[in-house]
Amino acid sequence: MSEFGFAETLRLERVRLRIAQGTLAVRLGVAQQTLCAWEAGRRAPAEHNAASWAAALGVEIPAAVLVALRPKVAACGTPSGYQRHRRRNEKYCAACRAANTASMRRYRAVVSGV
Ligand SMILES: [Zn+2]
Repeated sequence: MSEFGFAETLRLERVRLRIAQGTLAVRLGVAQQTLCAWEAGRRAPAEHNAASWAAALGVEIPAAVLVALRPKVAACGTPSGYQRHRRRNEKYCAACRAANTASMRRYRAVVSGV
């Protein structure tokens, strides 16, 4: 993986292949905004989305990145607990919010390749 991390690698590969962001988003079945956030490292794709995103561009995602994206059991105080609150339109509890923030920080560290 390049020094840019995998999100940037996938963005550069899409540009190199001259695939528009909107075209790739349709192919992956996600909104263009979502793909844009993935490429910028602002949002973490689900593991299966990361796999199809990389496959669509012929890039192999490092195992460490896939492990970081693996869903966890939904319980309060976890990133998936945070997602569960979001799905149910509930207020985020402090534990879930903190867990999600910490998880995004770890993800960004992997994405930026530091
Ligand atoms: Zn919670």
